[in-house]
Amino acid sequence: MSFDLGIRAGHLLTMKGGLGDVATDQFIGIKDGLIIEVAPFQSSQQKAAGQFYDLSSKIVLPGLINAHTHLSMVLFRGYEDDRPFQEWLFKYILPLEAKSVREEFIRVGTSLAALESIRFGTTFVNDMYFFCNTAADVLIQSGLRAHVAWPFMDFETPEERSQGPAGIQNRVSNFKKFCEKYATHPRVRPAIGPHAPYSCSDNTLREVEALSREMAVPIHIHLSESQTEFDESLKKYGKSPTKRLHDLGLLSPNLIAAHCVHFTDEDIELFKNSGAAMIYNPDSNMKLSSGTAPIARFRKAGIPVALGTDGAASNNDLSMFGAMDIGTKLQKLAGGEGATMGALDALNLATYEGAHALGMGNQIGTIEVGKRADIIALRTDLPHVKPLYSVLSQLVYAYQGLEVDTVICDGNTLFHQDRFLTLDANAIYQDTEKMRLQLRQSF
Ligand SMILES: [Zn+2]
Repeated sequence: MSFDLGIRAGHLLTMKGGLGDVATDQFIGIKDGLIIEVAPFQSSQQKAAGQFYDLSSKIVLPGLINAHTHLSMVLFRGYEDDRPFQEWLFKYILPLEAKSVREEFIRVGTSLAALESIRFGTTFVNDMYFFCNTAADVLIQSGLRAHVAWPFMDFETPEERSQGPAGIQNRVSNFKKFCEKYATHPRVRPAIGPHAPYSCSDNTLREVEALSREMAVPIHIHLSESQTEFDESLKKYGKSPTKRLHDLGLLSPNLIAAHCVHFTDEDIELFKNSGAAMIYNPDSNMKLSSGTAPIARFRKAGIPVALGTDGAASNNDLSMFGAMDIGTKLQKLAGGEGATMGALDALNLATYEGAHALGMGNQIGTIEVGKRADIIALRTDLPHVKPLYSVLSQLVYAYQGLEVDTVICDGNTLFHQDRFLTLDANAIYQDTEKMRLQLRQSF
């Protein structure tokens, strides 16, 4: 057998079956972006590989899956922190977006966020923001795997505003063109992103549901994030946001909903029966005082759950290592004694279970024969990750993200030994500085 790329892995965590087993001194053989061999290392395998990485001192695991983010919001990082959700969103973020989000903002923001994601070992991003054609093009260039959700809401988006009155009128045709353009791309796929139940009327949500079926794309939405959202839905519609989505026909295996903090027992039942998936965003929920999503109850009910960072304006970084660490601790804090979420649970949400929640479980989320080669490796020669008794514990509670040494997505190397191989980091930093100077004038 010959391989395009061979990897010798010192500690290999495949996440196969979500089990968390660790094997030492293993070989991974990759051809045409596909994992075709995983076996104990032998020197003959090295000779059969066109390119070979000796990662015998590293921890090797599946690339991490960031299931909910708004990539370009990295350019708002640090803007009006420390405000509660309603005030933060309606008084600061939405008005600033209206003033400042243009195509160049998305090009620079998505580039910076792609760089950060790669640096932290993330190989899949589930993005929801504006100017999706531009975001998709940057993500294709970055080498990352992504779903890019076209925004739907009751008011015009920054992109539509930039196109004059025709913008919002052409929303559906522009969305369809976007879907057709990227329909067959092997890594970057379109999705539809109704912003949230509170920003979409019943008609908008019905239209989204029909379009998702027509274009065969997943729906990515924010759901029941804050107590205010929940209470206002009861007042306005006489039902919870989740019940409303159910009654409009949106709860299905095609839906992935971010946050899901405020859920009644009936909501959990409806969600469970629908096959829809959830995304836990612990950093953002804590920072915006949204509350704690009852993740253990959701998983016990059999609801698929993934993990996300949310946008950098409410986190403030895109590190899935941070999300795993905070995610477990928030559940322990909320659940009291008798831990409800441990290291293996967190890793599962970021790999195996996360992939299944996104409908990608047959392609990514584990390192095993037949899966796409989305693989990362981490240094072990740093003081805060020694001694190495438990790879699982160390990954979730000690690693922070910058220990990432190698990032491979679809068999291509995106980052290796402190070098970005698909993006020009210095050019992106210069563009970011230009954007910072421009944005400051809009504050
Ligand atoms: Zn979000």
